Amino acid sequence: MSQQEQKRISRREAIRHLGLGTLALAGGYTFITGCKFGGKKGDDAPGKYVMAVRKDNVTGREVSLLGYGCMRFPTYESDELDNRGRKIKAIDMKKSQALIDHAMKNGVNHFDTAWNYHREQSATAIGQMLKKYPRESFTLANKMPGWLITSPEKAQELFDEQLRRCDVEYFDYYLCHAISTKEGYDKPYEEFGGYDVLAKEKENGRIKRLGFSFHGDKELFKYILNKRPWDFVLLQINYIDWVDQEAEALYNELVKRGIQCMVMEPLKGGALASLTADANEILLEAAPDKSIASWAFRYVGSLPNVLTVLSGMTEMEHLKDNLETFTDFKPLTDEERSVLDKAIAEYRRYPQIGCTACKYCMPCRYGVDIPSVFEAYNKCIKESNIPDMNGPQDDKFNKKKRAFLATYYNTVPEGARADRCIGCGACKTHCPQKLDVPELMLKMKQMVKELEK
Ligand code: SF4
Ligand code: SF4
Repeated sequence: MSQQEQKRISRREAIRHLGLGTLALAGGYTFITGCKFGGKKGDDAPGKYVMAVRKDNVTGREVSLLGYGCMRFPTYESDELDNRGRKIKAIDMKKSQALIDHAMKNGVNHFDTAWNYHREQSATAIGQMLKKYPRESFTLANKMPGWLITSPEKAQELFDEQLRRCDVEYFDYYLCHAISTKEGYDKPYEEFGGYDVLAKEKENGRIKRLGFSFHGDKELFKYILNKRPWDFVLLQINYIDWVDQEAEALYNELVKRGIQCMVMEPLKGGALASLTADANEILLEAAPDKSIASWAFRYVGSLPNVLTVLSGMTEMEHLKDNLETFTDFKPLTDEERSVLDKAIAEYRRYPQIGCTACKYCMPCRYGVDIPSVFEAYNKCIKESNIPDMNGPQDDKFNKKKRAFLATYYNTVPEGARADRCIGCGACKTHCPQKLDVPELMLKMKQMVKELEK
């Protein structure tokens, strides 16, 4: 079954079951595996890992298929306060250095930072951490914050400062950061001369390869690719966005043009490190000793035009698991692909509600605790405890029904549940996620009423 078909079916299923919400972007990053990490390949002894590498198709440089994203280093609460009086999180250099050393020791040689990561502390931090290694032993990527460019001089100043912060003579890969609109590209890079500054730096050898990171649609992608020569592109690719965010079309456009691709968000912000309980079970049954995250990494790593896959690793556990995945890397087999397709179809059966608990919709005059109602529903999805309202009312149904109601009652106090919603709509206009709160409340109310019978 193609992913397109799966998507259509999953949408139908979602409507049939309840029709609640849109797919949520999970923030957490928790590994689910059938076994402990470590073992033969998981210890610290150097040389035990053979990291997969891909060759840059122009320079011939070997880049590790697992790249280190420098936006999620371990942090601690510093004494410094931000403008809202909250303690600022600073990079824990000792823990971060241990991660970088372990990564280097085991073949990871690509590091990716940007102006704004860790409140502008990332570039300096990774520069310091890599200082003890010969410059040619790693490749370093940095990105131009286009939103700060107001003139060619400003672009030059930003670039010089980035070299200074990283304490390097050149960047192996350099990107125009986070292009998502035509204006967001045209203004800084064409009108204010940013591209020409970077092209000049490439001639000077202070940029080896020039590209951009992208979050827009197909038309904009082609517009930028046609506008200037580019050496590579950083794209958001994972097995959900392959279909949902046109990642397949963008990737294929690069293949057509012979431009290599780097990958960001292979776990979709952590969401694919753990699916729903039932979807996880499908993957764990097929590979009990592999993490759920490993399937997502192998999915993107199996794409031949991918140069490197970035992962922002905060914990040693994340790094070790990823090293396991990219050691003697094996692309997904057809059989594994069909297992993954099955798990994706299961995962898509019940889309989570995209509530971020920001509470802009609160308070509700009628007492409904809106984010808690959605939290309860999403929790049941994660635990695969949504009863199939159209299926047989068998033992499985009754078990899920009991679990669903218990979660709902425990999460949302009486008087704050969906049954108090009168559908006034006052909350709807405040929701930045554009959720149809009254409609969702009505469906939740009907579902609970049905289950309570
Ligand atoms: S629509 Fe429902 S949840 Fe929203 S404010 Fe009105 S009563 Fe409260
Ligand atoms: S405003 Fe929207 S996203 Fe924020 S808590 Fe309310 S429903 Fe959730």
